[in-house]
Amino acid sequence: MEEVKERWKVFSPATGKEIAEIDETPLAEINFLYDRAHAAFSGWSGLTVSERLVYFKKLRLIMVEQMDEIAEVIAMDTGKPKTEAIVADIMPTLDAIRHIEKHAVKSLSKQKATTPLLLIGKSSHVEYMARGTVLVISPWNYPFQLAMVPILNAAAAGNTVIAKPSEVTPLVGKCMERLFKEAGFPDGVIDFAHGGKALGATLTDQNPDYIFFTGSVRTGKIIGEAAAKKLIPVTLELGGKDPMVIFEDANLERAVNAALWGAFTNSGQVCMSVERVYVERSMYEPFLMLLKEKVNELTQGTELSDDIGSMTYPEQLTIVADHLEDALKRGAVLEAGIPPDKWVLGDTYFLPPIVLSHVNHSMKIMNEETFGPVLPIVAFDTEEEAISLANDSQFGLNSSVWTMDQAKAARVASKLVSGAVIINDVLISVANHNLPFGGAKQSGIGRYHGENGLRMFCHEKSVMTDSG
Ligand code: ADP
Repeated sequence: MEEVKERWKVFSPATGKEIAEIDETPLAEINFLYDRAHAAFSGWSGLTVSERLVYFKKLRLIMVEQMDEIAEVIAMDTGKPKTEAIVADIMPTLDAIRHIEKHAVKSLSKQKATTPLLLIGKSSHVEYMARGTVLVISPWNYPFQLAMVPILNAAAAGNTVIAKPSEVTPLVGKCMERLFKEAGFPDGVIDFAHGGKALGATLTDQNPDYIFFTGSVRTGKIIGEAAAKKLIPVTLELGGKDPMVIFEDANLERAVNAALWGAFTNSGQVCMSVERVYVERSMYEPFLMLLKEKVNELTQGTELSDDIGSMTYPEQLTIVADHLEDALKRGAVLEAGIPPDKWVLGDTYFLPPIVLSHVNHSMKIMNEETFGPVLPIVAFDTEEEAISLANDSQFGLNSSVWTMDQAKAARVASKLVSGAVIINDVLISVANHNLPFGGAKQSGIGRYHGENGLRMFCHEKSVMTDSG
């Protein structure tokens, strides 16, 4: 393997200023990383869960102590407001640690199984055995949370971990690496590789015992294919095109607020962003009017008080512009925001929130993942039509149903093809670490969080005993 030591400059998307230079992990070091992870495995997996949790507590305390500093790095690297960094990157990670500290011992201990009459005299149980070395490849939109949560679950279950954070937000990658060092995790238990696609592909090409990937559908398929050739198990957390279905008896103001939050938080760069809104026709006009009024009250910037930050990744702007141009060309009406030909961006990527009406499913904006601050709205007439529109998508990550009629909500929720359905709210499914999280259809394979979040990183071993 050729040793190439690449350096790359990092620019903040919110200021356009150069903020650091990063050394890429040389490809020649990858074998060394795997050797180190394999060497550390027997010591780490040989600890009891409680012994491992000591390091998690240290990490949690360090994170609380350094919250502001970590938020600053995330905000600078992504262009999101600091509040968003705290609320949606750091807090969910702390919550995941808390969940692990509370539940890991029980979730990973032997589970006694009942013995059928036929096998009388024998006893059975299931053991959870760490798999080995887990490769975690993560994206740039929530660069802290989406790397930390799988890393922590894999390590709590006794695996060693190699993490490859996104090259788009490398300072966050460096920051996470430093935090694990400061928490004193033993050498080789959690290592980081810094770099881009080629590095990710080379890491995948080795022999990790499990791959946990969060990112685009396109890359997820490449990784899934590479893993399948070697029978390496994977979790793929991919994209979404999440619908909100709003019936006429919904609380109008709450639904409007949720649409704004769901579509524009993190500038829409959220896998479970609200990317489609279907409103019952009698509610359509009042919904649109209130939405247009409120969208103008949102502030943009990276201060604690700001609602929306900048986009993170310039290439994403091209996709957003392409979807908008396609929609506008086919008759969509811009209800709020600025069309792409009038964007003035320079070195920063602040996009004002965009609201569209007169959209339909022939447009990219309604069937491809936009991953930007765009909210398209469609009117519907019947419950069946709403379900059919919501399900008319290649994706199925999250959905929400809005109505005061609980029976109707339950009926619609049960028919939506989606990894999670939220009734009268949006985005919050991810906040409950007791719930499995993941997607249907092109949104991915596998579920994490909850008991499964730990057990997925283990071999389940069934043991039967005859007392002899
Ligand atoms: P995005 O970050 O835009 O969601 P990707 O899905 O391409 O886009 O990236 C997610 C993560 O996957 C990043 O860490 C990236 O470096 C990594 N990556 C991209 N291509 C590959 C690949 N072929 N093999 C392994 N990792 C990859």
